[in-house]
Amino acid sequence: MRDINQPPITNHPSPVTGVSEFDLIARYFTRATPQAVLGVGDDAALVAVGSGMELAISTDTLVEGTHFFADADPRLLGWKALAVNVSDLAAMGAEPRFATLAISLPQVQEPWLARFSEGFFECARQYGVDLIGGDTTKGPLCITITVLGETPKTAALRRSGARINEDIWISGQLGNAALGLAALQGKITKEGLESCITALHAPQPRVELGLALRNRASAAIDVSDGLMADLGHILERSGVGADIRFDLIPRSTLLAARMDNDLGRFCLLAGGEDYELCFTAPPRMEPQLLEVADKLKIRLTRIGKISAEKGLRLLDGHGKPMVVNFTGYDHFA
Ligand code: ADP
Ligand code: MG
Repeated sequence: MRDINQPPITNHPSPVTGVSEFDLIARYFTRATPQAVLGVGDDAALVAVGSGMELAISTDTLVEGTHFFADADPRLLGWKALAVNVSDLAAMGAEPRFATLAISLPQVQEPWLARFSEGFFECARQYGVDLIGGDTTKGPLCITITVLGETPKTAALRRSGARINEDIWISGQLGNAALGLAALQGKITKEGLESCITALHAPQPRVELGLALRNRASAAIDVSDGLMADLGHILERSGVGADIRFDLIPRSTLLAARMDNDLGRFCLLAGGEDYELCFTAPPRMEPQLLEVADKLKIRLTRIGKISAEKGLRLLDGHGKPMVVNFTGYDHFA
């Protein structure tokens, strides 16, 4: 789209960099799109949807200073920008297929773009995503990605499906990414927390697990804003409540060593960006779920139960209520 503050010169080589917007798109954002009918280069992309399938569509924006540091490694940023979107498809039980990328850049720095696109396409390859379009503009660094995934009709995992007496499950471990963030913010020493910083920068969306949960889980969400907040969304949409056990929430040994302080407990309960799946399932599904865990080599932990009594209650190892005064991350809170 034309920029109202700038003369319409973006289609011509820039006197500074010698590259035009179209050169940039061709060089850094155009790759084969074997799954699409038509990819980058026309007014719109074209995709075909399998019969009996539904498209799952989700968008996430990453803003410099809000979602990443100004000096973020561009390769990791490219990975993460797509990974957090793919995670939303995982949480729907959808199979990733396509993405569009709208990027605004303060200036054209080709080494930066080369690294960013490298990370982006590494993630795209890993999860089978074709980049089929987007937009490239000048402005504060901001990355908006839309992903499209496919799921058989009625098989998608919604937030609204949790029922009374079902079990609540978590994949992997929670709190590592938040611990890594605390280290980068200088709240704690970075020493020994390299794995947590990696968890923050290079999330691995649980796509295979999401697919395996079709017809097994009743509701699912990816933990992007912290367990209390994200499980809270399932409860709200499902019109139910839950009791969860603090001692059962899966955590790394690095985080387990910090349970005697507020930061450690905050990371576990309300730290975001782990991109694990939180899901509910009827108790009779347990053997199947443990089989899935075994096959995918992903730890699945039951942390509590859905109840008729609204609200989210946190219990200690003896079943006694615990009081916590923090929930998840809210941009406008
Ligand atoms: P239009 O002006 O018609 O919107 P553009 O000049 O913005 O077209 O884009 C030309 C083509 O390049 C379109 O197919 C668009 O989807 C694609 N495109 C633009 N920016 C990106 C990007 N960052 N990543 C992938 N494709 C892009
Ligand atoms: Mg455009």
